[in-house]
Amino acid sequence: MFALQNFINGKLQNAASGQWLENIEPATGKAYSRIPRSDAQDVNAAVESAKEAFPAWSKMPIEQRSACLLRLAEAVGANAHDWAEAEARDNGKPVSLALAVDMKRSQQNLAFFATAIQHFASEAHIPSGPEHINYTHRKPIGVVGCISPWNLPLYLFTWKVAPALAAGNCVVAKPSEVTPMTAFLLSTCIEAAGFPPGVFNVVHGLGPEAGEAIVTHKDIKALSFTGGTATGAHIQRATAGSFKKLSLELGGKNAAVVFADADLDQALQTTIRSSFANQGQICLCSSRILIERSVYASFRDRLVEKAQRMVPGDPLRPETKMGAVVSEGHRDKIMGAIEQAVADGGKVLAGGSLAAAPNERCAGGYFVQPTIIEGVPELCDLNQQEVFGPVISLMPFDTEEEALSLANSTAYGLSATLWTQNLQRAHRVAAKMDTGIVWVNCWLVRDLRTPFGGVKSSGVGREGGFEALRFFTEPQNVCVQL
Ligand code: NDP
Repeated sequence: MFALQNFINGKLQNAASGQWLENIEPATGKAYSRIPRSDAQDVNAAVESAKEAFPAWSKMPIEQRSACLLRLAEAVGANAHDWAEAEARDNGKPVSLALAVDMKRSQQNLAFFATAIQHFASEAHIPSGPEHINYTHRKPIGVVGCISPWNLPLYLFTWKVAPALAAGNCVVAKPSEVTPMTAFLLSTCIEAAGFPPGVFNVVHGLGPEAGEAIVTHKDIKALSFTGGTATGAHIQRATAGSFKKLSLELGGKNAAVVFADADLDQALQTTIRSSFANQGQICLCSSRILIERSVYASFRDRLVEKAQRMVPGDPLRPETKMGAVVSEGHRDKIMGAIEQAVADGGKVLAGGSLAAAPNERCAGGYFVQPTIIEGVPELCDLNQQEVFGPVISLMPFDTEEEALSLANSTAYGLSATLWTQNLQRAHRVAAKMDTGIVWVNCWLVRDLRTPFGGVKSSGVGREGGFEALRFFTEPQNVCVQL
């Protein structure tokens, strides 16, 4: 069986313990590769090599660091077709989506931060009164940790490591143990891209073992984490006494608010995508669809009709639009959430069951029907807890105030989508959303320069553009008497 390896100090290597974990293909339910079950020994080795590499890397001219990242971006582009297939096999997502979204964006992330760092300047205050000037150094932090989830494996992995490396830090990164393949493939290109040994280390393994060792390592000074809210809370507690810099991008329970004056055809097309893309496993997916009562029944019926026509297929087939969910455990969690919603009074309008396997190869795979439920009370789990699967809840509203109150009624605050052609309403409602991101008449349009992140239980800090470069640098102000 194909064996993945860690990449530590410029070398591919097995876990020090010699232990392995099985890597399961979600579409078949069968193990197809194995990954190193790394622990603190491997993380320590990675941190030691990163500490050694840091002085030279952080002093290297920006253009040279940038060139390393650009060569890595080129490697993603050159391998995009093969790596998209690897991502589809590892994660269960359709290969067409992996190519069009995951590979494209992974390449962009690396290229974007390779060039962003060349435009990133620190602040100066000249003059600061008649007798002083102030300027701010932005220094790389040192060794930083990057921990990413399984839903957008290479996309979110590169979104973290690229700004960290561009800013002059050395990195110890861990992809999710559930989807390690494309981070491994990327690690096979790090040396050829010109990164000196120790600058960029990739350690595989379980969250509570390898992940925890990164989180608690005393020489890792900053940590960029994307994952579940419970894990984020654990990381905040585990690092409380060490004053590490933290960026936590966590879960969401995002509302799409459809006003009667919207372009309803466009709202419908996009809401189907925002609900079920990547099997609903995107932190930004809409999981609560709030619809103004006067158009509720017609919009609901059209949504249901479209969802019923979506049939999960083999992720490796080019025509597949919806694939498998990521794991057996996650499938069971999704089915449990549907059962709970029904127990809470919900009526299943579409889906609600496991989907049939699309072919013999996928007989043991984890396929869930796109599911639409209505009638669940506002404060029940389906409207409050993240499911992170192809399951949405529909709720009618009568007034703008009620829509806002429903939208803001969860502990989460990642994103919201508004559908209206009333310009004033769009601005007014957007400003009152308790979320880090609002889309108006669109969804998942991402300009990489914009700040990305959530409020409340959706996280702490912002990624994207100069926000990420600010996170991965330590400002030091110098005040000079003239
Ligand atoms: P998890 O929190 O389970 O895991 C995220 C990462 O953290 C994985 O690499 C995991 O490793 C690791 N991890 C788990 N436990 C620990 C620990 N104790 N110490 C250190 N690392 C640990 O999230 P999922 O992978 O299940 O991802 C889904 C979640 O991510 C959803 O809640 C989703 O909303 C959120 N998300 C948020 C985004 C955002 O930008 N706000 C974007 C995408 C997803 P392993 O998997 O190997 O156990």
